[in-house]
Amino acid sequence: MSDLSELYQQVILDHNKAPRNFREVPDANRTADGDNPLCGDRITLWVKVTDGVIEDVGFQGQGCAISQASASVMTTVVKGKTVVEAEKLFRAFHGMVTGTAEPDRTTLGVKLVAFSGVKEFPARVKCANLPWHTLHAALTNGDGITLE
Ligand code: ZN
Repeated sequence: MSDLSELYQQVILDHNKAPRNFREVPDANRTADGDNPLCGDRITLWVKVTDGVIEDVGFQGQGCAISQASASVMTTVVKGKTVVEAEKLFRAFHGMVTGTAEPDRTTLGVKLVAFSGVKEFPARVKCANLPWHTLHAALTNGDGITLE
């Protein structure tokens, strides 16, 4: 087992067992629902944006370990970032798990790069991507998204 797939296992186990920011944000001004019917993953995301900065973010959801762990890690990473930075992370993460871009370690950091392991399980790419698509929807139009 490579170091990266070991890290992938660790991050997913840890964040699935003890999800971070697993709560509604009462004064959120952006929200979106994400749905991945292929796997049965659902996520509701609340974001509080002030002056272009993600001041607070929380999620609730249910589904497989990858989707929930990905949401948990995402909230820890984007909190305190600007909306522009979060969108850049979304694109870098999306490129990494779909295999269209090499993992950008500088942009993503080690916890997100751990999810590059999902490439080995094509059916799980949407699980890892769901929280990020939901964040993108919350930050742009606030509509829900359903991955197809
Ligand atoms: Zn899933």
